[in-house]
This record gives sequence, C-alpha cells and structure tokens, in this order.
Amino acid sequence: MTESGSSAEVPKPKKPAGFWLPVLKVAGIGIYVDMLVLGLVALLLLGEGASLGDRLVLIAIALGSVLLHELGHAAVARLQGLHVGGVFLHIVPFAYVERGKPEDELRTALAGPATNLLIAGALYALPAVRDGFPWLDVERWLQDPLWAAFGINMLMAVVNLLPALPVDGGRALRAALMLRMRRAKAYAITARVGTFTGAACFFIAVLVWPSTDAYAAIAAGLFFIMVAWREHQSGQLERRRERAKAKQG
Ligand SMILES: [Zn+2]
Repeated sequence: MTESGSSAEVPKPKKPAGFWLPVLKVAGIGIYVDMLVLGLVALLLLGEGASLGDRLVLIAIALGSVLLHELGHAAVARLQGLHVGGVFLHIVPFAYVERGKPEDELRTALAGPATNLLIAGALYALPAVRDGFPWLDVERWLQDPLWAAFGINMLMAVVNLLPALPVDGGRALRAALMLRMRRAKAYAITARVGTFTGAACFFIAVLVWPSTDAYAAIAAGLFFIMVAWREHQSGQLERRRERAKAKQG
C-alpha cells in the first residue's frame, strides 16, 4: 500500500507517528519495522511444526515479497519526483510518499502489485513452478520455497488489485476517476465500488464456508465496507467544499 501525506499541512512526509525500528536503507530509502511485526516473526520462529530452517526461509520469502512490493511503490514515486518518507513494515505495510497529482498516484499505486506480478512471472518461467504448482491447494504452497514465493506474490498482486480502499486497486481506481471528474464524485464512486467488493468478499466467504480461508474473506469484506463508508463521508465533505467554493466564485 501507499500512504500519502496530506499536501496541505505536511508538504514532505518524514515518518508516521509511533515507534519504528530502522533496519535497512535501500538507495537512500529507509526501511522501518513495527514492534508488532517483530513479535509476530518471533512467534512464527518459536512455533511448532516445520523445522527452524524451513520457517526462516518462509519468513524471509514473505517479508522479502512485501518489501519488494513497497519498494516498487517507493521507486515509482521517486521517479515522478515525489518525496519518499520511507517503507514501513506494519501489520498492514505501506510506503510513505508525498501526495502527487492523480496521474502520479495512479502510477505509484499500480507499481506495488506490478512488482509482485513481475516476480511471479519470473518464477513461473521455472519448470519446477510451471509444471507442479498446486493452484487450489493453498496449504501445499509452503512445501516448496519456489512455490511459496510464487503463491505469495500472486496472492499479493490479486488482493492488492481489488478495487477497494485501502488496497492499491482502490487507490488506483480513485486516482483514475479523479483524472476524469470532480474529486467528490470520484470519492463517491470509489466508495460504492469498495462496498460492492466488500460484499462480494462476504459472498465468497459463504461459498467456501467451512474452510479456514472463509475467516480471511469475512474480515477483508468487513474491512473494505468500513473503509468505503469513510470514503463515502469524505466524498460528502468534499462535495460541500466544492459547493461552497462555487458559491464564492
Ligand atoms: Zn501496495
């Protein structure tokens, strides 16, 4: 995801509030980790099941994929001359970049999922992935590091391209609409599409019900509907602002 600093008050975002542990710097872009993520990694390492080595490999693949996704956002933002405040690995990871014009936001939003698709495409060229990947058997993805890397990147691309805020697909949709219409209308349509996407997640959850993936779909659906409601309110606020401006002018 990308998080934009509001251009009115903070022209150049530095770092979001909270405690962030600096871990790495890639081409001048700082990478920070939240304590919650460190705790989660520790839990996964201490857990039972696969050997410690296998678990380390899987954690590295998952974190590496997330990191490359966020660096994709950051790199494209910077190419467009936007200031990048850093990459923040939280439970919901994000790259903190300066808010740009709608066309800049569109390209920056799409850069993350595009990075995952590029990685997945490169992995799919390998016979071990192309010939053996267990598409529908998600639990088996983790049996082979190459399958895990392919599966995680495909999943990240698909989930992030859903047309619902706060994922990249919702941001891209809003930016694309803002190129063609007033801000208030773009917000309203994004909210409607997000509500529909959230409801669709719910419907899918009912279909796959006894499976454990149903819980993830329910949580995602609820979250999308909640964020869509907030977007709807922002749209109404924006419409009042536009009307007041029209009266003045
Ligand atoms: Zn993203």
